[in-house]
Amino acid sequence: MAGKVLRRAAKAAAAGFFHYSGVRKAMAAYRRSQSGGRRILIVSYHRVVSDFTGELQRSIPGLLISQETFRRHLEEANAAGYELASIGDAVDVMEGRRTAKKDLFVVTFDDGYRDVYRYAYPVLKQMGVPAITYLPTAFINTDKRFNHDRLFHLLRCVQERKFRPDYDTMPTPSVQLLGPILTGRKTASAALDDFIGEHPTRVLTGIIDSLEQQLGGGADLVPEQGDVMNWDEVRQMARDGFEFGAHTLGHTVLTLEPTEVVEKEIVESKQTIEREVGVQVKDFAYCNGWYSDEMIRVLKQNGFRSGVTTEDLPNRVGGDPFALKRKVMWENFSLGMMGDYSSTLTVCQFDDCFGVLGMSHPVLGHRPHILAPMNTSNVLVEELDAALAKATPVDVVDVTAPVIASAPAVAPGTAGAQVVVAPNVALASEAAQPEELQ
Ligand SMILES: [Zn+2]
Repeated sequence: MAGKVLRRAAKAAAAGFFHYSGVRKAMAAYRRSQSGGRRILIVSYHRVVSDFTGELQRSIPGLLISQETFRRHLEEANAAGYELASIGDAVDVMEGRRTAKKDLFVVTFDDGYRDVYRYAYPVLKQMGVPAITYLPTAFINTDKRFNHDRLFHLLRCVQERKFRPDYDTMPTPSVQLLGPILTGRKTASAALDDFIGEHPTRVLTGIIDSLEQQLGGGADLVPEQGDVMNWDEVRQMARDGFEFGAHTLGHTVLTLEPTEVVEKEIVESKQTIEREVGVQVKDFAYCNGWYSDEMIRVLKQNGFRSGVTTEDLPNRVGGDPFALKRKVMWENFSLGMMGDYSSTLTVCQFDDCFGVLGMSHPVLGHRPHILAPMNTSNVLVEELDAALAKATPVDVVDVTAPVIASAPAVAPGTAGAQVVVAPNVALASEAAQPEELQ
């Protein structure tokens, strides 16, 4: 904890120095020339909330930003000289169809949380800032919650009740998720983040169903927060000019699915938005930020023009619009020395000062398709039992911890596959890098 505070202080101090000495502008100019003349910064948000402190007690921290900080981000980007642009503008500049007089700043939202409609939409509308929201269409007009939110909530229930799950009745890999949390080796956020990237949706739903059953069912096992927009809300935003992109049907990490599923999830999510909203859908967001050549092929074949990742790298003029880089934002992205909002740090982050210095190590999203089911040996279960016997019970989930963008382990059986994984250093994970639990 002390280390984290010190790192934050060091980073905030560096940001202040960069800002007031003019180094920040020099770094931005360097990044601009590297990017082919213009910087194209695409930022990603999830939930914009009115009561950040309250929400932090019950939600995945790395998905949250307060309405006030969100507004400040937009004001800050404006003041720093960015043009607040649409995703279409960004693609046009990248593909040379348009030249930009200023660097571009593109606002995106993943998952279609209702918070975006409630708290981001009024701010965007008032400030005249364009934005795109990527929708997993099977969730729209339902009261379903995302697997990551349901699992996070269930893990808190398990911990609060000091419940010992019966692994024999759960999908085999469940011990990989629950073990590190119950023994205090990982926060629920970090463990979930790793696990969701490695296991197909059916494993997640298997664990959810089993845990709900073991905990005795009941409405309090489903999180109250994390509701998504309905089609009327989507249509209202669309009438005001806000754009919508596809984000699969069931919020599915498609690199873990066979081609038939990839095609269905991509094509039907696009068609559903087009039918419900009456607009053309040309943009896609990869769940968990993971993408493959196969997915890009399907997107191109079906009239898409772009795909966004969660790779925190600069976009370049002439780069691939189906591998658009994004900076994932949340409240702590802007936390200064004293834990309060820091304007200089925020702008330094926008201008990628820490990236220029090699202080952030982005996790790359390009993956091979992983089709084999994961196996977990009994050794893991035995190890866990031994660890649990020794462990001090963890009473509460560390909700103040960021969602760490730790390097997802390469799945067994994929040895030799071309997976490039860059582990995140603490500085990067603290301030800027909650890898999307999307
Ligand atoms: Zn998502």
